[in-house]
Amino acid sequence: MHASMEGRADPHTNGADAKDRWIVLLMLMRRYLTICSVLLLVATPYAHAGMTETLLQRQRSSDLRVEGDRLVTAGHAGYRAQPGVPSPAGVHVTYLGTGGVLIERDGAAILTAPYFANNSLFRVGLWCLAPRNELVDEFMPGLGHVQAILVGHAHYDHLLDLPHVWASHGQHTQIFGNRSMCNLLHGAQPQPATVDVEGDRRTGTSPGIYHETHGGKIRFLPIASSHAPNVALPPTPWGLKAMVSPWAVEEPLDHLPGRSRHWRLGETLAWVIELHGSTGSRPFRIYYQDAAHIPEDWQHPGNGDIDLAILTVASTNLIGQRRFIERIDEVLAPEHWMLIHWEDFFHTYSQDPAQIFTVPYTNPVDFIRNLRDAGVEDRQWVLPAPGASLLY
Ligand SMILES: [Zn+2]
Repeated sequence: MHASMEGRADPHTNGADAKDRWIVLLMLMRRYLTICSVLLLVATPYAHAGMTETLLQRQRSSDLRVEGDRLVTAGHAGYRAQPGVPSPAGVHVTYLGTGGVLIERDGAAILTAPYFANNSLFRVGLWCLAPRNELVDEFMPGLGHVQAILVGHAHYDHLLDLPHVWASHGQHTQIFGNRSMCNLLHGAQPQPATVDVEGDRRTGTSPGIYHETHGGKIRFLPIASSHAPNVALPPTPWGLKAMVSPWAVEEPLDHLPGRSRHWRLGETLAWVIELHGSTGSRPFRIYYQDAAHIPEDWQHPGNGDIDLAILTVASTNLIGQRRFIERIDEVLAPEHWMLIHWEDFFHTYSQDPAQIFTVPYTNPVDFIRNLRDAGVEDRQWVLPAPGASLLY
């Protein structure tokens, strides 16, 4: 404020003056948004349940239907069963929630970072994060046959539970991810074994470097990708967009941050995961991402068919679901689509579809409609509830 008054006194500093006015305007807007957020967050617990759903534009997942058909695949009677796979390759995929999947074939397995703590919007936006180790212990499947954990980016909803996952369930594993992730997890006690693969990622100019576990039965390649904006006002592709916690953590930390904004994105990675069966049959290839990539801004994952694409639904409404689906279809043409990161990770973790809501301001029903319009058949996709196990 003071700087802008000084600038106004000098006619030669018009540029700086205009810049100062912008800064003041942005600060006022930020203050306005903070006040609105506080009011919304304080009011939400007291609001009528239906009002919360309206405010957050979220739906109970057991109510999700397209033309009368249930959308959510769960191991409960009355929910959508996984469409039959004619000759499965023996690949088991268990969805754990948010970005977490456990993938197994012939006794070898790999995990992508799960998140069970589901901190509330109030904690994430205004207060500090709290890990929920007891939820990790309750819902984490055994990791005895896992040697690697993959992470696509370093936001808190992909990392907060990992120190406990590693310390209590997987000290024999290594966590592969970007530099920001390694620097963040350096602050955990005990310190997890991490591998920075940022330099190994496939880009427009480099084919990338594969890593492997189980003597080459599982191979995985990081691919340069991107992260859709987290919020937009209004929540549409033409809204004013913002990314939460961009940039990277540049130095190794000596403690884990409490505020969500300090868990910084880093380079966003997608992954190709190859599972080589013991019978010498061709590998089963999975494309995995834990952030919806911006359609114009990601790399081809290299030669070879993609049997299964594991894709993020959250935020696709902000970048255009049709375009997102078209690009996946053009570039990957996957045989199967698994849609993850669609449920409300600000709401207490559950594996019961009646207790699961859709992530605020993202509509999986629209996503499925767009998928059908793009020609993807109903036998090709699943929208799994956390805890659901699929066979491919
Ligand atoms: Zn993220």
